[in-house]
Amino acid sequence: MAEKVITVADSITVGELAETLNLPVTNLIGELFKNGIVATINQRLDFETAQIIVEELGIDVEIIRKETATVSARKVHELSDTATERPPIVAVMGHVDHGKTSLLDAILKTKSVDDEAGGITQHISAYQTTRNNRSITLLDTPGHEAFAALRQHGATLTDVVVIVVAADDGVKPQTIEAIRFAKTANAKIVVAINKMDKEAANPQLVKTQLATEHGLNPEEWGGDTLMVEVSAKTGQNIDKLLDTVLLVADLEELRADVDAPAEGLVIESHMELGKGSVVGLLVEHGELKPGHFMVAGATYGKVRTLLDFAGKTIKKAGPATPVTVTGFKELPQFGDVFSIAKSEKDARNAANQARIERERDAASTNVTGADMLKMMTQKNESQELNVIVKADVQGSLTSVMDSLRLVDTDGEITLRIIGSGVGNISENDIRLAANENTIIYGFNVDLPPAVKRLSMRDKVQVRMYKVIYELLDDARQSMESMLAPEVVETEIGSLTIKGVFRTLKNEVIAGGEVMTGKAVAGVLARVRRGDEQLAEVEVTKVQRQQQEAKEVFEGEMCGLSLKTTKKLLIEEGDTIEFFSRELVKRTLK
Ligand code: GDP
Repeated sequence: MAEKVITVADSITVGELAETLNLPVTNLIGELFKNGIVATINQRLDFETAQIIVEELGIDVEIIRKETATVSARKVHELSDTATERPPIVAVMGHVDHGKTSLLDAILKTKSVDDEAGGITQHISAYQTTRNNRSITLLDTPGHEAFAALRQHGATLTDVVVIVVAADDGVKPQTIEAIRFAKTANAKIVVAINKMDKEAANPQLVKTQLATEHGLNPEEWGGDTLMVEVSAKTGQNIDKLLDTVLLVADLEELRADVDAPAEGLVIESHMELGKGSVVGLLVEHGELKPGHFMVAGATYGKVRTLLDFAGKTIKKAGPATPVTVTGFKELPQFGDVFSIAKSEKDARNAANQARIERERDAASTNVTGADMLKMMTQKNESQELNVIVKADVQGSLTSVMDSLRLVDTDGEITLRIIGSGVGNISENDIRLAANENTIIYGFNVDLPPAVKRLSMRDKVQVRMYKVIYELLDDARQSMESMLAPEVVETEIGSLTIKGVFRTLKNEVIAGGEVMTGKAVAGVLARVRRGDEQLAEVEVTKVQRQQQEAKEVFEGEMCGLSLKTTKKLLIEEGDTIEFFSRELVKRTLK
């Protein structure tokens, strides 16, 4: 057991952590700095980062994550032994015009004939169909942005991605994006080669492209990617596509807990006259029923009406079921996690807590464990600054994009435009940016308040400009800020140990003669024994003739207090090398 146990919620500021650890803030900032994080006292560190830093510091403290009553922090749902099979959740993606919508229609049409509700009356962005008495949940992903947003909430949400490729057009940029998303989401891929009814259809070419350029080898060629040749127009092989999806899903053994309290994700939300908030939810675990108190993000409510994807009233909705509910007091946001609470009061409290956390998070910058790892691993690799550009008219969009491409002159940081368009900043832009760690530039456009709120929630940087060169300057500065700062160490002096007076757990008090330069209080020092470096320490005090001094010069005797992270046995004859370490910001050439 560690000497001390502290609990930390999702994140903690550098200042708070230092206080809890009883450490000077500067020491903590210094330790972060050693790990490549340039942090200020108000910066928030996420739980994982705090843990890593405390470990690195060698402090005997165990950090435990505080369990909060809110649902804002997504916990991975541990399946119980009684978890049962659930329908697969399938996203249909692909390049524009390759037939996603037509394919979904074709899949659902075959069923709507015997559908009591008489086809789809209510359009929510998820549907269910059945094949051989088994349900399949389909997510309509009008843009990859939506899928990207879902991805933030855990890889398990989408089990299978059907990638639609038109047989007469082949692999296109959004096809590649879809493959990338599916892979990062850890979803299984099924390829639907569509428009097979067309004369120009060339499925072989599609397969060759996928196999040689994108690592998706068709099963018939000995690979492990299932590909089905279909036509949304004639209905050819649509059933086979569904069979294939089920086959792939079977290998995944998809299960969910029906007995658990209902939880899932908000997949759509809008206000409707007379109904108030109309919210699309995807239940992941448990069963949602009318009358349940629900919480999603910073809002709550009671399930007033519960409708299935076709707009039919239902009494309960189990795992992998898309539903529409009314009853939320305010609109939750796309991608919010929902759960249920025991009482209205609990629901309200949880929502309030989530609101406070969101506001607090929006007010301070964040460093996460992921950021930290990225910084640690990317230091020497070339990095990318992703941007999305929105402008008022096509002409200015083109010139902003052309100019941005010119900013990219240095090989070290690459500027990648991952999205662009004419019009105001939209929720889709925010979703796309949230996933890709991206800056959104708006040129002569607006940032609607709802979009602004979303950007704050997802911590997406949106920057608005009316003058091109100011926008370019900002992009250049952003790239510069990504350059890992140069660490410059300056030698100050050295000392030979003549005697050790005290060795404590985190401190050594010793004395010796300054051999070169000077000994200075408040700097860093390396402890050496011959060629071996024993430790890096902090010089907390220097003394000349029993008097505390700022510095002691060459040729003089000097007393030292050295702060260590672990017990350090210094001996007579060891060398102490005093030095300073500075971070120097680099600029693009
Ligand atoms: P999305 O942008 O991927 O949703 O594509 P759509 O479903 O809107 O289809 C784009 C166009 O391709 C439309 O004009 C469809 O009618 C057409 N289309 C879709 N699937 C097929 C197909 O299997 N065969 C033929 N001939 N046309 C198709």
